[in-house]
Amino acid sequence: MALTVIVILVALLLFLTAFLLVRTILFTRNSSTVNLTFESSLPPLDQEPQTFAEHLASMIKIETVSHEDVSKDVNANFKIMQSQLAKTYPLAHKLLKKEIVDGYTLLYTWEGQNRDLKPVVFMAHQDVVPADEHTLNQWTYPPFSGKIAEGFIWGRGTMDIKSQLISVFEAVETLIRNKFKPERTILLTFSHNEEVLGTGARAVVEHLKVKGIRVQAVLDEGGSIYDGLIPGVKSLAATIGISEKGYLSLKLTANATGGHSSTPSNATAIGILAKAVTRLEAHRFPHNIKMVKPMFQGLGTSASPLMQLAFANLWLFGGVIIHTLAAKPETDATIRTTTAPTLFHSGVKDNVLPSVAEAVVNFRLLPGETIAEVCEHIRSIINDDRVTFEPMDQKAWEASPLSPVDCKAYQHISSVVREIFPGSAVAPYIMLGGTDSRNFCDVSDNVYRFTPIVVKEEDLNRVHGVNERLEIDALYKMVDTFYRLIPRWASKDM
Ligand SMILES: [Zn+2]
Repeated sequence: MALTVIVILVALLLFLTAFLLVRTILFTRNSSTVNLTFESSLPPLDQEPQTFAEHLASMIKIETVSHEDVSKDVNANFKIMQSQLAKTYPLAHKLLKKEIVDGYTLLYTWEGQNRDLKPVVFMAHQDVVPADEHTLNQWTYPPFSGKIAEGFIWGRGTMDIKSQLISVFEAVETLIRNKFKPERTILLTFSHNEEVLGTGARAVVEHLKVKGIRVQAVLDEGGSIYDGLIPGVKSLAATIGISEKGYLSLKLTANATGGHSSTPSNATAIGILAKAVTRLEAHRFPHNIKMVKPMFQGLGTSASPLMQLAFANLWLFGGVIIHTLAAKPETDATIRTTTAPTLFHSGVKDNVLPSVAEAVVNFRLLPGETIAEVCEHIRSIINDDRVTFEPMDQKAWEASPLSPVDCKAYQHISSVVREIFPGSAVAPYIMLGGTDSRNFCDVSDNVYRFTPIVVKEEDLNRVHGVNERLEIDALYKMVDTFYRLIPRWASKDM
C-alpha cells in the first residue's frame, strides 16, 4: 500500500515537472524573436565617427531648454538650432518638405514613390531639461559645452535626446547621398516642448488628422539596451516600448471653517486632507503582473532558467514574482498604478486656522486601467465628502494602447538591433515615463519607443542629471541603426 502511494506521488511529481518544463519551452518561443531578412543594395555606413560626434556637439552647445514656465524659454535658440540643422544636413533640407507647427516643432516629409502606402514616422525632440544650478560644479565639463573628450560627447541632450534627433538626420542624409528612394513616405518630426507641455507633438497629430493621414508605424525615443540591469539576464537586453503608462495629477481640496487657532474644532482643513492622503498611501492600487509577462516572454532563453520557469507558470509562481518585483520602487512601478503625493499647501500664519487645504497626488496608470476607474477607486478610499478632487489642467491622459509585437514594424526593429548589437535579446515593455509618441496612437496602431544605445547602471542618473554623456562609438551605432531601419520601414513590405 505504502509503495503504491510513493509510486503515485513520484508519478505526479514527474508529471508536474514535465508540465512546467513544456510550458516553459512553449512560453519562450515567441513571434517577437522572428528575424526578418532584408535585401538592400545600399553600401554599409562608412563615415568617420568623429564627424557625427562634432555634429552632435554643435547641437548640444545650443541651449534649447524648455521650462515649466514657458516665459523662461529662449525661443531664439530653437531658431538657431533649426538653422544649424539646415547647415549640417543640406541634402535632407533640399529634398524634404519642411513645415513648422505650434511655433517651433519641426515636421519633414520625404515623399515616397508609392502614395498609396501609409507613411512611417521617426521622431525625437529638440528641447532638453535645464541643468540644475546647484549641481553645475559637479559636471566634468559644463552642460552646454558640447565637449568631445575621453571618447565621449558631453552635455545636456547627448542621451535625451539630441543624439536620436541627429542620428535620424545623419541616416537620412547618407541615404539621400546613396541615391536611396523610399517607396513609402517618411515623416520626421521633432517637437520643441516634450519635456514640459508636449503641445508640439499633439499639434503635429492634429495636422495629420486634418489631412486624413493614417500612419503605418512610429518610432520615438524610449527603451534602451540594458547591460546588467534586468535581474536574471546576462546578455544585453534591448527594450522596445509598446505602450506607456497613463498620467493623472489630481488636485485634492479640503474645506473647513477657518478662525482663530485658540479655539479649533475637531475638523481642520489640514487634518481632513492629511487623513485623505494617508488613506490613499495606505490603500495603493493592486498589483497586476500581466504587464511584465510579455517582456520576459521576449527575453526568452536570455533570462535565467528560473525566471523562464517562473514567468511561464504564473499560476504557480505569480505570488513569488510579485513579492520580488514589489520590493523595489523601480520594479514595483512596473506592476501597478502608482500613487505619489507631490504637493501639499495650506495655511498662512501660525495662529490662524486655514479654511482650505490643497494637495496634489500624481498617479501613473497601468494600461488597461482608466482614469475614470482610478477616480472611482480614489473616491471609495477617501470616503469623505469634505474632500473634493479634480484632474489638473493638461495633467491627465490615459495609458497608451499596446502596440503589437507580431508585426513587421516591431520585427524589423528587433532584427536590426540583433545585427548591430550581436547577442542581445530584444523584448517589449511598458514605459513608466511619458513620450511625445503617445499622441500618435490616434493615427497609428504601431507606436514604438526605442533609443538604440547601451545603458549601464552608472548611466541611469545621467539622464536629466549630472555628466550626461554619450560614447562616440555609441553614437555611431545609433546612426547605423537608423541607416538600416529607415529603408526597411520605408519598404512596401512592412
Ligand atoms: Zn526625451
